[in-house]
Amino acid sequence: MKSHELIYLDNNATTKVDPAVVEEMMPYLTELYGNPSSAYGFGQQVGKALDQARERVAGLIGCEPGEIIFTSCGTESSNAAIHSALAMDRDRQHIITTRVEHSATLKTCEMLAKRGYEITWLGVDSNGQIDLAELERSIRSDTALVSVMWANNETGVLFPIEQISEIVRAKGALFHTDAVQVIGKLPVQLRDAKINFLSLSGHKLHCPKGVGALYVNRRTKFNPFITGGSQESGKRAGTQNVASIVALGKACEVAAGYMEHEVTEVRKLRDDFEKGILERVEGVQVNGDRENRLPNTSNLAFEGVDSEAVLMLLDQQGICCSAGSACTAGSLHPSHVLKAMGFSDDRARSSLRFSFGRFNTAAEVEKALEVVPQVVGKLRRIAVAA
Ligand code: PLP
Repeated sequence: MKSHELIYLDNNATTKVDPAVVEEMMPYLTELYGNPSSAYGFGQQVGKALDQARERVAGLIGCEPGEIIFTSCGTESSNAAIHSALAMDRDRQHIITTRVEHSATLKTCEMLAKRGYEITWLGVDSNGQIDLAELERSIRSDTALVSVMWANNETGVLFPIEQISEIVRAKGALFHTDAVQVIGKLPVQLRDAKINFLSLSGHKLHCPKGVGALYVNRRTKFNPFITGGSQESGKRAGTQNVASIVALGKACEVAAGYMEHEVTEVRKLRDDFEKGILERVEGVQVNGDRENRLPNTSNLAFEGVDSEAVLMLLDQQGICCSAGSACTAGSLHPSHVLKAMGFSDDRARSSLRFSFGRFNTAAEVEKALEVVPQVVGKLRRIAVAA
């Protein structure tokens, strides 16, 4: 199926690359191939493009350009923050995180636990929220880092990052937030924030895959995760992926212009869709805190149907969404996020994530509101007949 025939409602998985972003990066894939670290003008010209990209990324999140380190993806950014916090102070080797993190943090902390580090896992309530008092009680004198995502990729639930960062700062630990799902969707202003590290990823904001950034507060000591050359002021070795970094800069500039659109138009698409489904289909529940939620995400449990089956039938009709669960070695594991919220395996296995973006239209929502109820109805009839 050609992409223009698709109804792409999976914008939390990845996003369509903005044509303006492609245009901006093209010269760095063709004639402007100099190494940004070279001393001659041809290289320096490319180095200037990196400077501009750094300014643009910093502009979107309200920090200094010198606080941005370009990385290969959001996952690398989070790994770098976690490993740096552990390396900087040998007396602080305890980490606190939540049970609903993306695998970039989750698996890294599981791996560290196997290596003997102590990890405290904070649970969530049925809204997907952590208990701030429990967080406060968990921070110890040997806590190196608290890592809490800003928005959950499956449910869109937003954690109160300002309050969390204040608690962590007051207790003297470092704070990292995986903001991969927030950047480009909600305004972020880091200048006076009490955040030490923040991870972001290009492909969630209409930039190509394989580029990200880590914000490291200028007063926070940093130990590089990837060592070698002195690129990125010695904080991340390896010749920069110039074209993708230029793309990320442009994507951030464009995203700033769309911020209002995200919180009004994209929210309306999501709300119209969600309301339409709740009106048309019986036995549907919204997963996650409906108030404190990304404006683009709707995670819905369709009682009595298998989300993988819905996904496949929707796929046949050109609608892309996500089951919000990981498929490993052919066996479907119910989403760790929905399980952590206390939902049954059945509810987790009947849940689907629909995530909207600026390239979606009201006509697509209308079409989805025709197709999704048909598909769910069909699967429920089959289940009754079986
Ligand atoms: N964190 C969150 C919340 C995500 O949604 C994702 C991507 O799915 C990542 C981290 C990983 O980002 P990347 O694909 O750039 O490694």
